[in-house]
Amino acid sequence: MRLSRSFLPTLKENPAEAQIVSHRLMLRAGLVRQTASGIYAWLPAGLKVLRNIGQIVREEQDRIGAQEVLMPTLQSADLWRRSGRYDAYGPEMLRIQDRHKRELLYGPTNEEMITDLFGQAVKSYKELPQALYHIQWKFRDEVRPRFGVMRGREFLMKDAYSFDVDYASAVTSYRRMLLAYLRTFQRLGVQAVPMRADTGPIGGELSHEFLILAPTGESGVYYDAALGEQDWLDEPVDTNNPEALEAFFNRVTTPYAATDEMHDTAAWENVPAERRREGRGVEVGHIFYFGNKYTKALDVSITGPDGNKLYPEMGSYGIGVSRLTGAIIEACHDENGIIWPDSVAPFKAAILNLKMGDTLCDDVCERIYAAAPEDFLYDDRAERAGVKFADADLMGHPWQIVVGPRGAKEGIVELKRRATGERREVSVDDALALVL
Ligand code: ATP
Ligand code: MG
Ligand code: MG
Ligand code: MG
Repeated sequence: MRLSRSFLPTLKENPAEAQIVSHRLMLRAGLVRQTASGIYAWLPAGLKVLRNIGQIVREEQDRIGAQEVLMPTLQSADLWRRSGRYDAYGPEMLRIQDRHKRELLYGPTNEEMITDLFGQAVKSYKELPQALYHIQWKFRDEVRPRFGVMRGREFLMKDAYSFDVDYASAVTSYRRMLLAYLRTFQRLGVQAVPMRADTGPIGGELSHEFLILAPTGESGVYYDAALGEQDWLDEPVDTNNPEALEAFFNRVTTPYAATDEMHDTAAWENVPAERRREGRGVEVGHIFYFGNKYTKALDVSITGPDGNKLYPEMGSYGIGVSRLTGAIIEACHDENGIIWPDSVAPFKAAILNLKMGDTLCDDVCERIYAAAPEDFLYDDRAERAGVKFADADLMGHPWQIVVGPRGAKEGIVELKRRATGERREVSVDDALALVL
């Protein structure tokens, strides 16, 4: 994308309405704009980040055999009356009436709908297990929308639902999903610690929240440092092997980790002092096992191995895709702006032309840009070098390729790594090889 022609409205000043750094930077870097309280429009760079996050989430769901669907945002109130949640959900639910006075709602989550869809299609235990997911907008009429997209009213969530014949198989599904989450967050370039969670209004028996550590997080967190040091992408867990998943699960859930809601001071005392980590965190994911709560409520049964009917056991698994854009910035920034992890950055690199109109500089920049116009943001504005450097730092591209008249003569550019500030002079080809 050429910056001179792009819709990337950056702001020099900090917007007064933004209280936390990610909100300030998302507005300043031109990623989003608020259109109504807690409701945001995603501008081109913000949308690229949202899609990059969604794509990693999708790949890790697909990897464990979950299948993508797309359920609508609007749901019928009748479905929620059948589960008993229409009245129980309270004022966070946005209720809508159509012209025929039929009651609808903008979905805050999809347990009822997926259970109903599942029930229409699946009749026998032989068809299980199943896991389905979608990445869709949700609406929750939060009392206090704040912190930008971190607590919006309309927000993008990945929600998955598993269906199993019995408890043992459902727990295996839960553990498999936990592994997928650890891999997902690692690929997103952040550490999200799984913590034992309260089962809350969805109800159930087994639940973990995933928290990214950030001083502005809404939850207090306490965890054993032993949890922070593992590479899940290299983890040789066979996701089709229940014993391997159990061993993995025990290993991950044995070290102490809890949010303030679930904190157990006695157990905390048993963690060696030098390994105790205390701070604040942002909830970016949440997984639940809740048995046959919804299949029973909606009377969705299948034929079991013994010929009798059984209510499948379910779990539900959420990831806050839009919240993650803010949470990643909370974890990855400095005083100059965002530092995008490579995997989610809207552009791999900015090309900074320090002398627009200089034939050599222009030629070198065009040559680099032509190699991957989707991955580069070419700063071709007639601006001073200082402005270009500041905007590139603010927008947080992992690399900056700086093209000035002196180097251009020899085909040399300066390559800056945003995360470390490290600069080096390299040939155009080497720059392309490193960045792409
Ligand atoms: P919170 O405690 O922050 O209100 P929640 O526990 O109500 O979140 P869940 O029902 O567990 O949320 O939904 C799954 C995920 O959706 C959360 O882990 C979070 O990442 C995301 N999410 C929930 N509410 C919002 C919101 N208002 N804005 C953005 N993302 C949200
Ligand atoms: Mg909530
Ligand atoms: Mg919560
Ligand atoms: Mg939650």
